[in-house]
Amino acid sequence: MTALTGAWKLATVFGIDIRLHFSVVFILLLIISSLGTGLLPEWHPEWTALTTWSAATLSGVLFMMSLLAHELSHALTGRSRGIETKGITLFLFGGLAEMGKDADRPQDEFLIAAAGPAASLALAVLFYWLARALSGGALDVAELDFSQLAPAATVCLWLSAVNFMLALFNLLPGFPLDGGRVFRALLWWWSGDMVQATRRAARLGSLFGWMLVAWGVLQVLQGDLVGGLWLVFIGWFLHRLAEASATHILMTRKLEGFDVADVMRTRFERVPLETSVRSFVDDYVLRSTQILWPIEDGGRDVGYLTTDRLAGGETSLKQMMVPLPGDEVLSPDLDVNAALARLANQVAPLPVVVGTRVVGIVHQADILRWLALHERYG
Ligand SMILES: [Zn+2]
Repeated sequence: MTALTGAWKLATVFGIDIRLHFSVVFILLLIISSLGTGLLPEWHPEWTALTTWSAATLSGVLFMMSLLAHELSHALTGRSRGIETKGITLFLFGGLAEMGKDADRPQDEFLIAAAGPAASLALAVLFYWLARALSGGALDVAELDFSQLAPAATVCLWLSAVNFMLALFNLLPGFPLDGGRVFRALLWWWSGDMVQATRRAARLGSLFGWMLVAWGVLQVLQGDLVGGLWLVFIGWFLHRLAEASATHILMTRKLEGFDVADVMRTRFERVPLETSVRSFVDDYVLRSTQILWPIEDGGRDVGYLTTDRLAGGETSLKQMMVPLPGDEVLSPDLDVNAALARLANQVAPLPVVVGTRVVGIVHQADILRWLALHERYG
């Protein structure tokens, strides 16, 4: 997965880039303000405003660090199984570790998926133990009676509770949440059939999403409009995410072992460099569905044009074209999945170049069409 847009880099830990999405600020402020105006004054009306807001801010920041620890746990377990993580982005729904690839073995997938909730559980235990120690062990922390605790112990007990909830939430069977991935890994491990395990996990994840939607609708009918709509939104999001993740995994799997040369378009026309812009539009673009046009000069391809670059006002093809050789081109022996990752960031197709010659053109849609045809006739 690529990094979310709107995220800025915070630090690098163990060689992994830690990024914050701007939505984190929103969530952080929400947590701090709900603690500062709601929970903390309720538990401790005797605290000064300074104590209350310091405790609220510390809790919010430590909660974000707990999320980070959860994701780092995924990432470092992945690294120990030979899968590198490029970066971790904290955003509205928690964290997102960008793994370089999917696990090849169910055992690895299981360990990587389980590592996050395990870290959250460990933090829950750690903060609980700290709250106990800070309260002198005399107070009954087990009853979650915050009102008897000093500020530091209150913060620790709250962090213990939220980390525990974080572990539980992530263990829900909604694929690709951790719980759904653990479920998929276990099915895959047991049956040896990765494709079927992925389909089943996605179906369960999708069903779980719809159950949340139904629950949300029920809440709305009972008068809780905001809470209900929020559940509907999360449920629908999980349903879509389950399907999209499964499609992505299964497609990646089917395309394994194929090169760009297998899926590229090899029937296309070239445009001579001296062609006028007017003639290029009238005689080429308007008479073909071809979107990418190699520009030829003396037997060499000196550049290429995609129709989305036609903005009007240009005087020559040379002025408009992307010059070749460029770095934004594909090579025929590139893995199809790597090519798809490159194409995912842009709308236009890319040329496949060998030396000074364009030998093919790859569209994202072509790969999907190729996959469908290949399944039928391959
Ligand atoms: Zn996780």
